[in-house]
Amino acid sequence: MTDLHRLNGKTIVITGGARGLGAETARRAVAGGARVVITDVLDDEGAATAAELGTNARFLHHDVTSEKDWQRVAEFAVAEFGRIDGLVNNAGVSTGQPLETETVEHFRKVIDINLTAVFIGMKTVIPVMKENGGGSIVNISSAAGLMGLALTSGYGASKWGVRGLTKIGAVELGTAKVRVNSVHPGMVHTPMTASVGIRQGEGNYPNTPMGRVGEPSEIAQAVTFLLSDAASYITGAELAVDGGWTTGPTVKYVMGQ
Ligand code: NAD
Repeated sequence: MTDLHRLNGKTIVITGGARGLGAETARRAVAGGARVVITDVLDDEGAATAAELGTNARFLHHDVTSEKDWQRVAEFAVAEFGRIDGLVNNAGVSTGQPLETETVEHFRKVIDINLTAVFIGMKTVIPVMKENGGGSIVNISSAAGLMGLALTSGYGASKWGVRGLTKIGAVELGTAKVRVNSVHPGMVHTPMTASVGIRQGEGNYPNTPMGRVGEPSEIAQAVTFLLSDAASYITGAELAVDGGWTTGPTVKYVMGQ
């Protein structure tokens, strides 16, 4: 890791950081020299993850749909560590219903957690970052925000929305030195996907060119890169970290060869 790839002296807020991709991002950020504020609605898991990471990590209960909670998070991060340099909008929930049977109530709930909360988060930290002279916001979208995936009506719509909001942020905040990028994980083994039967191992995901699901560390290293000064000229980008899933249908051979 070069010095530019490190996160020395930076304070990073990571939502949904109690477990899964958020927790792994927190581990990698602290290993890279950052101080992290992990937030989540899962208090026991969040406190345990922060305790594992030692004095450079804090946990705060935070429902990302609450504007009031977001204000508390910003105040807490500044009180504990003096600044906010990075925000990872990672908290999210997934869905699995066909359009016809998805309820309006559930669709709205998913949009609230996965999209409206990202807007509130950006809105809350932007003034704090501007005061510091800049920052980096990484919004966790999904492969489902780059293509049409069946059974993901609320989820897919929210992740396409996150991708769009990211571009808007990048355009509005470029000269304020606040970079805004989206990361689009493919299928990664976490508590979210374990609950629908995703397992680790080679050959377990044949519809991606790489033929396997991803590891949380493989997403975390992309996120921490975007948080770091090594990404100083990258804003408005959409980084697919998906084993090639969104390149299109997996073609294993060309006819005639
Ligand atoms: P996960 O379920 O393991 O972790 C998500 C975390 O978000 C949980 O700790 C959960 O408590 C928290 N959360 C949910 N609602 C919240 C709320 N209202 N307020 C605060 N926290 C809340 O899932 P994961 O796989 O680690 O997913 C992390 C992010 O990555 C999500 O945005 C997800 O959509 C995205 N993603 C995951 C995959 C994958 O394959 N795992 C693929 C693409 C995108």
